[in-house]
Amino acid sequence: MGNSDKTMNLYDRAGHPAPTAVDCGGAVFGGGEFQIIAGPCSVESEDQVIRIAKAVKAAGATLLRGGAFKPRTSPRSFQGLGAEGIRYLLEAKRETGLPVVTELMNINNIELFNDVDVIQIGARNMQNFDLLKELAAHTKKPVLLKRGFAATLGELLMSAEYLLEGGNPNVVLCERGIRTFSRDTRNTPDLVAVPVLHERTHLPVIVDPSHATGAARLVKPVACAAAAIGADGLIVEVHDDPAHALCDGDQSLTPGQFGEMVRAVKSILPNACK
Ligand code: PEP
Ligand code: MN
Repeated sequence: MGNSDKTMNLYDRAGHPAPTAVDCGGAVFGGGEFQIIAGPCSVESEDQVIRIAKAVKAAGATLLRGGAFKPRTSPRSFQGLGAEGIRYLLEAKRETGLPVVTELMNINNIELFNDVDVIQIGARNMQNFDLLKELAAHTKKPVLLKRGFAATLGELLMSAEYLLEGGNPNVVLCERGIRTFSRDTRNTPDLVAVPVLHERTHLPVIVDPSHATGAARLVKPVACAAAAIGADGLIVEVHDDPAHALCDGDQSLTPGQFGEMVRAVKSILPNACK
């Protein structure tokens, strides 16, 4: 069968009207449950990630993020701490009890992710089909699949289909901004993707207001808009010294600003992060 409109895909809402709830180490996305993932773009040191983990937990985050393997545009930019970064992230998990989300770029590193709760596949790898196939073959651990910056929603869904077809039903989709003619923000948040994806799929959909805008001052309004338009959660970058962050400082909230964002989101969704 070809990839025609008539082909039923595993992601299709038509064949699965009830929303799928994905349990991420105890924090559930979808089916009415809303979670906030927060933490630094990159794990920079053990102290840094533990400090930020405690701060975001106190402010209401229900999962911790932190990149150890970083996909950087320039080979001379900080590439992440790799295996050491995963160890520090897991130490922060032990200290706070927060489930952790971190990006996998190479299947050869999969063993390092054994105690990670959610594996992120970044925008740049959304259509790395071999990686998606290998990942599904290795694990049923939840996968956070980010939309490629030039990917249609149909393409995002077909990438999710690789994971579902490979035997992993635990997929959370993430709208993280797309590249348009606009140069005024780092990317253009495509928030209508949320209700459109909900029409087309039973999978949960979250929004990343940090990469979608590239600017800390725009994170709270876009987070609130995402909550209002029906997202199942958020992933937000937080750093306690954004000016010296090794990656994405401009879009990182301080813990104080993150607390304000959580309060604003909860004024829209009182049951968020429960
Ligand atoms: C990230 O979450 O730090 C990241 C690199 O995101 P994206 O893949 O959406 O650019
Ligand atoms: Mn980042």
